[in-house]
Amino acid sequence: MPRVEIERERCKGCGLCVDVCPEKILAIGGELNLSGYYFAVVTNEDDCLGCVMCAEMCPDVAISVWR
Ligand code: SF4
Ligand code: SF4
Repeated sequence: MPRVEIERERCKGCGLCVDVCPEKILAIGGELNLSGYYFAVVTNEDDCLGCVMCAEMCPDVAISVWR
């Protein structure tokens, strides 16, 4: 089963990964990171397809996907 990890301190909360995920399992959370950005979180990792589109889209290289 694929695994997705978002490094909260690298994330700037742009939302590009949220928009690109075909399963809609990424979201901008309600917590701020140390830089003051609301960072992206994985809401339902079990539905991840391992397509890696989120990681490819992220301008801040904050996402890793293992499959
Ligand atoms: S790997 Fe694909 S399905 Fe999984 S979170 Fe990223 S975009 Fe969504
Ligand atoms: S694309 Fe990267 S920087 Fe933008 S919200 Fe997603 S994880 Fe954060």
